[in-house]
Amino acid sequence: MTGLVTPLRVIAPEAPQYNATLVDRQDQHESLAYFWIRFHGDPTPFEPGQYMTIGVMVDGRIVQRPYSVASAPRDAGKGYELYVRLVEGGQFTPLLWALPVGHRMRMIGPKGKFTLEPDDDRIHLFISSGTGNAPFVAMMRELLAAGAPRRAVFLNGCSYERDVGYRALLEGWERSGEYPVTFIPTVSRPADPSNAGWTGRTGRVESIVAPVCEELGLDSSNTIAYLCGNPDMILSAEETLLGLGFSEASVKKELYWPKGKEPKGAAAGTVTSDQ
Ligand SMILES: Cc1cc2nc3c(=O)[nH]c(=O)nc-3n(C[C@H](O)[C@H](O)[C@H](O)COP(=O)(O)OP(=O)(O)OC[C@H]3O[C@@H](n4cnc5c(N)ncnc54)[C@H](O)[C@@H]3O)c2cc1C
Repeated sequence: MTGLVTPLRVIAPEAPQYNATLVDRQDQHESLAYFWIRFHGDPTPFEPGQYMTIGVMVDGRIVQRPYSVASAPRDAGKGYELYVRLVEGGQFTPLLWALPVGHRMRMIGPKGKFTLEPDDDRIHLFISSGTGNAPFVAMMRELLAAGAPRRAVFLNGCSYERDVGYRALLEGWERSGEYPVTFIPTVSRPADPSNAGWTGRTGRVESIVAPVCEELGLDSSNTIAYLCGNPDMILSAEETLLGLGFSEASVKKELYWPKGKEPKGAAAGTVTSDQ
């Protein structure tokens, strides 16, 4: 059997390393999608905030990357939901985009320490850029299912309105009060024609951290902050929070890539940015 062909690379249809299957995929648009991957055997327990590493075999080698799980641990029997951006020129995401539902793949994990503090009744300030909202969705889904939602203020920065992920879910929770969350998306390119109908906040997410803290009375005495996504955003938002008096222990971080790193093989300017 011939494998799937992506530009210059062939994904092996079968391999002894494969232990999971891509069971579902929902596209938000051409470069953002939700993927469900299920182990062939029993699911592995995980804590919300942790990540799984998924991969496929190409030319006898595994090509794999880590992704935060967005689904609740109690749903692991159905699979693990991952929210992924296609990085043009990236090593792995173009392969993932080429995979049809039903294709087998490798999944290992969970890993990671970006998890909720136990019994923490402080307000949870979730700050994310792009797909960095995924671990927070897992945390909220699990807390809600456990009947113990924690008051949250959720900031998510994207370039364009169409990039705001989990919007219906988060706005639905906020509107109904089912989860006590204040959801504040912001777009960083308000002048772009595709953002013409946007009436929400504008500017990069790190630029709204201080004003939101002031407006909502969030400070080091009542709030813990969780930051996830683009490293530049995280370092900038962290600086703001420390300047507002937050301790380092109350600012938790998950960087999706090392600061200053560009995808290998991407021509300058072709990388689709998360914000
Ligand atoms: C713990 C952890 C969890 C992660 N969870 C997610 C997740 O839930 N969703 C997700 O989309 N990515 C996530 N990532 C990033 C992911 O692992 C890959 O780096 C990304 O999908 C690009 O892979 P690639 O091989 O196509 O690009 P590569 O060839 O590896 O190029 C990497 C470069 O792509 C750019 N890049 C990486 N991630 C993104 C992104 N999300 N948006 C825009 N540019 C990016 C950066 O410039 C980075 O240096 C996570 C990373 C880590 C370390």
